[in-house]
Amino acid sequence: MTVEEKGIRSLDDLVGAGFVASPTPALRAVVERYPVSITTAMARLIDPADPADPIAAQFVPTEHEAEERSEERADPIGDAAHSPIPGLVHRYPDRVLLSLLHACPVYCRFCFRRGRVGPSGGVLSPDGLEKALAYIRDHHEIWEVVFSGGDPFVLSPRRLAEVVRPLNAMDHVKILRFHTRVPVVDPARVTNELVAAIKGRAPVYVLLHCNHPRELTAEARAACARLIDGGVTMLSQSVLLKGVNDTPETLEALMRAFVETRIVPHYLHHGDLALGTSHFRLPLARAQALLKTLRGRVSGLCQPTYVLDIPGGYGKVPVGPTFAKAKDDGWSLQGFKGDVRFYKDCL
Ligand SMILES: *Cc1c(COP(=O)(O)O)cnc(C)c1O
Ligand code: SF4
Repeated sequence: MTVEEKGIRSLDDLVGAGFVASPTPALRAVVERYPVSITTAMARLIDPADPADPIAAQFVPTEHEAEERSEERADPIGDAAHSPIPGLVHRYPDRVLLSLLHACPVYCRFCFRRGRVGPSGGVLSPDGLEKALAYIRDHHEIWEVVFSGGDPFVLSPRRLAEVVRPLNAMDHVKILRFHTRVPVVDPARVTNELVAAIKGRAPVYVLLHCNHPRELTAEARAACARLIDGGVTMLSQSVLLKGVNDTPETLEALMRAFVETRIVPHYLHHGDLALGTSHFRLPLARAQALLKTLRGRVSGLCQPTYVLDIPGGYGKVPVGPTFAKAKDDGWSLQGFKGDVRFYKDCL
């Protein structure tokens, strides 16, 4: 069995697969601090001969991760300030994040939870889960429960059903949402048993985290089809990343690939201020210019909302390109080819 077939979990594995040439002390320090995992499906997509491989850039650690900016934070979006009890983040009144575990099938080098996710983090204890469920049961304003990172689809269908069943028994919980990378990075985990485990009274939305069109392999698309054919609605969630998807061509191909897979493009995230991730971020103006190229050139189905999570826990806001400027007596509107026209409210 080659290293790629076993999956990659250590610096030795990275060297064995040819993804890292020489493990320097600085790189060792990075790997000791932030866990490494690359699944077989993702390792197979990496071309070790390509120093700019967009899949490698997401999962193979580099010494850049040791460079920290003063604006970067361990908790960039202020989750801790809004966590009423372990496992829950309740920032918006109508929806709550529920983290059942800290483990993910892959560890993304740009993750905003990078200090908290990892293989040793463990699962919320049965007592912790009871307390989290009791909180949701007591808070009738919670309309939606969002299962978030670690990756909920790492859990067995039996474990998932143990959480989904009590939530479906709470009348005020109308929507269940799962944020996951599993359909792409480990598609075989998306079994019919998993689909059955998450289905119930509440409609189920799955937000797929995927950043490059190459990630949507035939196996990944088949895994998404099992979810969608099983009655799940799928939306996309991507991060705009330098060296991964920061060209108009790659973004266009990614959004088209989502729509062809019956996944509705939803959010494209501005990189959060996680520690040691500045090499992935782009200036906001550059991000807006990239998004502008999609408008008109690509189907309206292929237009994600560009969002930035305001550091400190103030929430996500759309910060994409603007096509309308307020003038004294009306509006200046820019068409997709760049033509600027004057528009006046006519009431
Ligand atoms: C991102 C996030 C949500 C979900 O926000 P949406 O805009 O509904 O996707 C909910 N709670 C927290 C704490 C979040 O960070
Ligand atoms: S799968 Fe999500 S939570 Fe896990 S490391 Fe990647 S971005 Fe972070």
